[in-house]
Amino acid sequence: MDLVDPFGRTIRDLRISVTDRCNFRCTYCMPEEGMKWLPRSDVLTFEEIHRLAAIFVERFDVDGLRLTGGEPTVRAHMPVLVGKLAGLRVPTTSSSPLAGKKPDLSMTTNGASFRLLADDLRDAGLDRVNISLDTLQQDKFVQMTRRDELVRVLDGIEAAKQAGFSPVKVNAVVERGVNDDEIVALATFGRERNVEVRFIEFMPLDASGHWINDKVVSQDEIVAMINEVYPLEQVAARGAAPADRWRYVDGAGMIGVIPTITKPFCGDCDRVRITADGQFRTCLFATTEFDLLKLMRGGASDDELAVEIQRAVGTKWAGHQINQVNFIRPARTMSQIGG
Ligand code: SAM
Ligand code: SF4
Repeated sequence: MDLVDPFGRTIRDLRISVTDRCNFRCTYCMPEEGMKWLPRSDVLTFEEIHRLAAIFVERFDVDGLRLTGGEPTVRAHMPVLVGKLAGLRVPTTSSSPLAGKKPDLSMTTNGASFRLLADDLRDAGLDRVNISLDTLQQDKFVQMTRRDELVRVLDGIEAAKQAGFSPVKVNAVVERGVNDDEIVALATFGRERNVEVRFIEFMPLDASGHWINDKVVSQDEIVAMINEVYPLEQVAARGAAPADRWRYVDGAGMIGVIPTITKPFCGDCDRVRITADGQFRTCLFATTEFDLLKLMRGGASDDELAVEIQRAVGTKWAGHQINQVNFIRPARTMSQIGG
């Protein structure tokens, strides 16, 4: 049965945060120090994650599960979780192209430990991976992530390719005055390494609260800069995916741009999220959460959980209000929500 929100959007994609912890401290996401971690007892167990995922996939025909965080690879035994999720089946009655098959399983990671896990995750059933990389300069990498791990991230990208993930995508958040001078260099990297770079507009989910609109480099600017060096043509119809995509006219691959701020794609949004502490959110920027952890640990049945999920989806708003006077920043940051 489809999970449909009040604006007629069918929910197909569930993002599950497996931890709020991270081995990086990206300036656009976390503070350098003083982050308050969830008590471990408040973090969903693998069994609880599997139970919730099963409700979404088997009852509500959700056909995509993305594991994120925080940094998902800092949680021990991730291949075990992936293996459990790979055992789920999208109902044969679903209109999804994956009807009768396992859901599409993906992960977003900073890549620093990915070399150690790539083969095991692939063998366990992970289909796709996005690795974050905002700069190719070692000093800027240290400035942006507060960790000296560029080499290990580049290794992680290679390991992902060798393990057979295809396509491997690279996420690059662009912040004006920080790494916007590297947009073309990152595009070149993608062309040479055969990875699809997805540029992300900087969003107001940073812990320090330094986001201002002027720091957002728009999709139009990003595409124009790359197009000047490597001519691009837009690929039609994004569908529910957040990235608009372009292909290089010379056939050297694709780029994507996620224009959350300048061209919100809320009208096509098919995503919902569960935080590491089991809070269900119907938007990255939502200010309301639905406590599935409490319900589950209070003895709720799957039927009761499904009713609560439907109730929550019934509150999904038309879209975020960034840049409007009534925008309220979510109380939690990107790493706490699960990007
Ligand atoms: N730790 C993993 C990583 O960095 O890939 C997964 C979690 S991270 C929160 C998910 C994605 O959100 C990353 O691609 C990251 O660059 C992006 N992100 C974090 N803070 C952001 C912000 N303020 N604006 C835009 N993207 C952001
Ligand atoms: Fe960690 Fe990812 Fe946030 Fe960077 S963006 S601090 S890697 S959770």
